[in-house]
Amino acid sequence: MKVISLDNQEIRLPEKKDWYSDEFVTLFKSWKNYDFESLYNRLEKYSNYKGITIGVIGYPGRCITIALIKIAGEYHRIHIENVICNHCNKQSGVSGTPGVWELYYGCNNTSQAMKRSMALPVKSCIHCGKPLKHRHTIWFENE
Ligand SMILES: [Zn+2]
Repeated sequence: MKVISLDNQEIRLPEKKDWYSDEFVTLFKSWKNYDFESLYNRLEKYSNYKGITIGVIGYPGRCITIALIKIAGEYHRIHIENVICNHCNKQSGVSGTPGVWELYYGCNNTSQAMKRSMALPVKSCIHCGKPLKHRHTIWFENE
């Protein structure tokens, strides 16, 4: 299983073949408070999104599933949501924002890590064309 270090945060990149491997299961158990059902539900859900790499961050008592996108050769963490435009109130579909603190859990410099992704251009609403600044949307699944 691939492991990357991003801003000193260790992120596992389990591919489908790794999900039930001894290595991953043992590791997941070592984080304690484990809940295999919710882990596999999240992995299953994330694997259906196009264009992302699934990342898993673990610390004793904590396991966070994140989505990674690659822009100009660099990974960025996103929280996936169906963004609702604050101008026209309509949903723009499956999208990602880097502006969620949980994604940076364990980084050596959280605000700096977040700032790097927050500097990426903000996408516009597919209905009214105004920028989705309130959620800082940087990714659309269907783009
Ligand atoms: Zn709009």
